[in-house]
Amino acid sequence: MKDYYDVIVVGGGPTGSTAARLAAEGGVKVLLLEKDREIGIPVRCGEAVGEKGISKIVELKEEWIANHIKGLRLVAPDGTKVKVHHEDVGFVLDRKRFDYDLAMNAANAGAEVVTKAYAFGLLTENGTVTGVKVQYIGKQYDIRSKIVIGADGVESRVGRWAGLKTNLKLKDVETCAQMTATNINIDQNYCDFYFSSDIAPGGYLWVFPKNKNTANIGLGLAGDKAQNKSPLSYLKDFMKSNFPDASVLTTVAGGVPVAPYTENIVSNGLMLVGDAAHQSNPISGGGIVLGMLAAQIAGRIASEAVKENNVSEQRLSQYVKEWEKAGGSNHRRAYRLKESVAKLTDDDLNKTAAAIQKKPEDKHTVVNIFKAALINQPKLIPDIFKIFLG
Ligand SMILES: Cc1cc2nc3c(=O)[nH]c(=O)nc-3n(C[C@H](O)[C@H](O)[C@H](O)COP(=O)(O)OP(=O)(O)OC[C@H]3O[C@@H](n4cnc5c(N)ncnc54)[C@H](O)[C@@H]3O)c2cc1C
Repeated sequence: MKDYYDVIVVGGGPTGSTAARLAAEGGVKVLLLEKDREIGIPVRCGEAVGEKGISKIVELKEEWIANHIKGLRLVAPDGTKVKVHHEDVGFVLDRKRFDYDLAMNAANAGAEVVTKAYAFGLLTENGTVTGVKVQYIGKQYDIRSKIVIGADGVESRVGRWAGLKTNLKLKDVETCAQMTATNINIDQNYCDFYFSSDIAPGGYLWVFPKNKNTANIGLGLAGDKAQNKSPLSYLKDFMKSNFPDASVLTTVAGGVPVAPYTENIVSNGLMLVGDAAHQSNPISGGGIVLGMLAAQIAGRIASEAVKENNVSEQRLSQYVKEWEKAGGSNHRRAYRLKESVAKLTDDDLNKTAAAIQKKPEDKHTVVNIFKAALINQPKLIPDIFKIFLG
């Protein structure tokens, strides 16, 4: 590590590596810091992405894909399974490989990648962020930069260190538990989503197949519903009832922001991306694609701002403007929908599933399902169309 870089990115997840790559491609000196000893490990993710979204951001490699998915199924509280007619199906990734290669791409574009490098504070001068304090193999360093990009995930501290308000309401964070289980009887063509207050109150349970007999099985509970019983206890109950003979290869826990995205994501010399900026989808909790989309913009703008020698909040807010167009306004609509969906009872969900099942299968679209679920809230119909068809 040198003592100066144009851009320092904190966090080597998919958004940090993407921002680092784009900044390096813009021709500036970039340092990417990751606290863990290896990029991509541990995996705290269901690993599912839509093909359309991800392929606009990176050129996909077959070795990143654990399983090609042919469809989605929603399971109502009474067990009714609805096959969703959806054009944008996708993959279950191998995120270890995916994250690792994204960091490799950043390095190949010229970024310096350092693992086991823990950022523990920011350097500031006259209200401008001017670098990062780093702990690296037992020693502490002050590394200066023109811009710091905080890509340090849901527990982000970079934003807080810079004085940005990044705290989440309890109801706006899903607390999750996930197991990767094998020797299970699944249909590897489908990602299944279970909705029920008994299984995952205020959230859903997912079964994302990695191959013919292995899947990521996890659930997220709304933070305000997870006080009496932990996500892991809910998950263990589901496993016992549905996959009693499973061998469990990994068990992880983590949080997902399902919040309105933080508008306050830049300040002088500082930008936030990905989970650190609450850019994950408030309905599904998926954060890989949206975070990388924002990181692409942030990395490019960071390099432009450095070259113009103007890293003021005003200059960097160009990132916020572009992100608003690319994903931010849809994100706000999705949050409104999430708030309404959260009010649905098990009975509402059963009725929705029954209503959809009466329609021919090609009408089981996401838009129609949301319309049926939110039939009493016609004001939301334009939002539904804009999010899923816009
Ligand atoms: C159980 C679970 C299941 C999920 N399933 C899906 C899914 O199926 N599909 C989907 O799209 N999304 C899913 N998500 C969300 C997805 O994982 C995140 O949105 C995504 O990883 C965000 O990427 P990121 O780069 O912003 O943050 P992260 O991937 O969290 O990366 C942040 C990185 O920063 C590093 N870091 C943190 N602090 C510091 C520091 N101080 N110094 C240096 N490094 C630091 C961390 O070690 C980490 O590597 C899931 C999340 C959970 C918890």
